[in-house]
Order: sequence, then structure tokens, then C-alpha cells
Amino acid sequence: MVGTMHAWQAVERGHEVVQIEREAEARGASLRNFGQIWVSGRAGGEELDTALRARELWERIGARVPGLGFRAIGSLTPVRNPRELAVAEAAVARPDATARGYGIVTAEEARAINPALRGSFEAALWCERDAAVEPRTAQLHLREALRATGRYTFLPGREVREVVGTGAVRDDHGEVHRGDVVILATGAWLSGLVRELDPDLPVRRVRLQMMQTAPLGEPLTTSVADADSFRYYPAYRSQALDDLNAGQRQAPIAAAHNMQLLMVQRQDGGLTIGDTHEYEHPFAFDTVEDPYEHLTEVVESFLGRPLPAIRRRWAGVYAQCTDTTRVVHRRQVADGVWLVTGPGGRGMTCSPAIAETTANELGW
Ligand SMILES: Cc1cc2nc3c(=O)[nH]c(=O)nc-3n(C[C@H](O)[C@H](O)[C@H](O)COP(=O)(O)OP(=O)(O)OC[C@H]3O[C@@H](n4cnc5c(N)ncnc54)[C@H](O)[C@@H]3O)c2cc1C
Repeated sequence: MVGTMHAWQAVERGHEVVQIEREAEARGASLRNFGQIWVSGRAGGEELDTALRARELWERIGARVPGLGFRAIGSLTPVRNPRELAVAEAAVARPDATARGYGIVTAEEARAINPALRGSFEAALWCERDAAVEPRTAQLHLREALRATGRYTFLPGREVREVVGTGAVRDDHGEVHRGDVVILATGAWLSGLVRELDPDLPVRRVRLQMMQTAPLGEPLTTSVADADSFRYYPAYRSQALDDLNAGQRQAPIAAAHNMQLLMVQRQDGGLTIGDTHEYEHPFAFDTVEDPYEHLTEVVESFLGRPLPAIRRRWAGVYAQCTDTTRVVHRRQVADGVWLVTGPGGRGMTCSPAIAETTANELGW
């Protein structure tokens, strides 16, 4: 998505773009994610500004490319006790709370917004600015729109192997591609060419487990998170969060896998549910079952009904700046060649604004 959004920016500004993809079709983090355009947990300052700008761009692009499935659905994070509620209240007291559309709602008000939440909880943090898109198909639809301009070419099944001069790269078919600018948006592939060009890359890889259910049979009108998400997102840092961390342990499985609940309904009615976070290498090559059982329990407690059958399970890997306050790693690595990677767990959200910043900085 980072590469595709750079293509979008360049084509919008009247340039011609060739996008080179190693796989027959993109298979990276950008289609394995929740499709959350997630404003709620972002750190105040540059990160929030980027996310808010990106949300604006997603909405605008979504109006032109309906296949993205952009939906301004907001999110609810149900809380079950006074400790969790205190974290939500601290979030709502932030000076930037209005920009995020934060509010506290009672359980009854939460059910008026999202009637599928028939389970037990006391109140919820509402974030009006959160939105969603369809990650599995978003790039296909964006490319269709790009192709229609006549200024865009997609070359799948080719790996970029070498920089061979100013703004020129060679692929593994031996073909050389020249441009005014080359953007390497290589996601979590940090070895090979990327390591050669940027040996001290301040970026790490993080692996997540996900699942998707059969259709719920009713709308889930907002995305949903649980209070464990407070522990992972910088916007929630507060004395109240310290108290939560000190006084309320995560479930052992959740703690062992660095878990939170995030859940978004897909347009076919199924639920995308996650996630875990694995930081240590070597990563597991298989998916393990315990985290799925934990997530199922949490979701069922919020929905007050059994979860539909799980239809798909997968894992994904994203690249994250080791200094997690940095929105992205954008560095010139050769004449006319820039590397843009490391947006972390917010890369789907921020990709349009990251690409816009590149375009502005390079004067496209
Ligand atoms: C499970 C999961 C859930 C997530 N949920 C969210 C979410 O809900 N919201 C959010 O904002 N973010 C989320 N993220 C993060 C987000 O998905 C990523 O930050 C973002 O997709 C990164 O985009 P990218 O284009 O940099 O990487 P990728 O999507 O991985 O794309 C990189 C592409 O480069 C290609 N490539 C690499 N090297 C070469 C080469 N040498 N030559 C040619 N092609 C090459 C790869 O094949 C790949 O297609 C999630 C991530 C994961 C894994």
C-alpha cells in the first residue's frame, strides 16, 4: 500500500509510474491487516496529524474508488470495570480528544451505536474518527483506477535487485527501469537489496496472528477493541494506564502473546479478528491455537453470542521503526533512490499521508 499510494500521488501530479512487484500479486502486510484506518490510539503530535490527514485522503480517494470500501464507522472499546474506565476517561481528557472524536458512552449508548454488542460491559470509549477499508482488495481497485489514467504500469513477478545509476534499477529479468525518482517501498523485506543500500536500517520486524469468521448474520456497525488495546497504543499513556497495568493483569495467554482484541466487519459480513505481536526471531512458521481461543472468548463476551465459525487464519509481518515515535523511515539510499519503510502497525492508516509527504518533500 505504501508503494501504491506513492504511485497514486505521482500519477495525481501528472507523472508516469511503473510499479514493480516481486510477487504475482501483492502478498505483504497490506492485505493481511484489519483495514483499520485507526486514529484512536495514535500518539499526539506528528503521528496523530499524519493519521488524521491520511484519513482525510482515504475518504477522498474512497469517494473516487468505491471498491476500497471506505467506511467512516468509528470504533468502540468496551470497558468492564472502573480501572479500564479510568483509562478511557484519561484519553477523553487529552487536549487532542476532539480531533479524534473521542467520547465515553454508557453500555446502553454503545448498543444504540452498535446493536450487536449485546454482551456485558460497563461503558465504552467511542472514537468517531476511526474508519475501515477492505485490505484484501484495496490495491486491486486502486490499480484499476491508476491504469485508467494511462500513466501507470504494473509489472508483477519481478524483483528489484540492484541500483544501476541515478534513478535506475535492474530487476531479476535483467531489465533496467529508469525514472526521475525510484521509491523502494519494500515493506518488511529488510535483507538483500535493502540491507545493501541501508545496512544500519533502524527498522525491526513484527509478526501478528489473525483470523476471519463466516458472516456474523448481522451488522457490526463499528470496529471494536478491548481494553488490552490501551496497553499498546501511545494515546492511552496516563497514570490511569499505569494503575491498570499494575492492578489488573492481562490474561496469561494475552500477556504471553502481547495480545489485544481488534475486530472489524468485512463487507461480506465476516469478522476480521486479531491480534498477537511477536518480536523475537526466528519467528514461528505456524499459527498457534491458544490466542485464537482467547480472542474468541473476548469477542463472545462483547457480542453475548457464539462467534461464527472461523474460516481463515493467517499471520502477517510488518516493519516498524525501532524508534516507535517515528512515523516512517524515509531515507535517500542512492542517487535518485529513496527507501520508505517501517510505518509499523499504522502503515495501512498512514500510507496516503506518508506518500503525500514524500511527494511534497521531493517536489513532485
Ligand atoms: C496482521 C497485520 C495487521 C495490521 N493491521 C493494520 C491496521 O488495521 N491498520 C493499519 O494502519 N496498519 C495495520 N498493519 C500495518 C500495515 O499493514 C503495514 O504497515 C503496511 O501494510 C505496510 O505497507 P508496505 O507497502 O510498506 O508493505 P507490504 O504491504 O508488505 O508491501 C511491500 C511489497 O514490496 C514487495 N517487495 C519487497 N521487496 C521487493 C523487491 N526487491 N522487488 C519488488 N517487490 C518487492 C513485496 O512483495 C510487497 O508486496 C497491520 C499489519 C499486519 C501484519
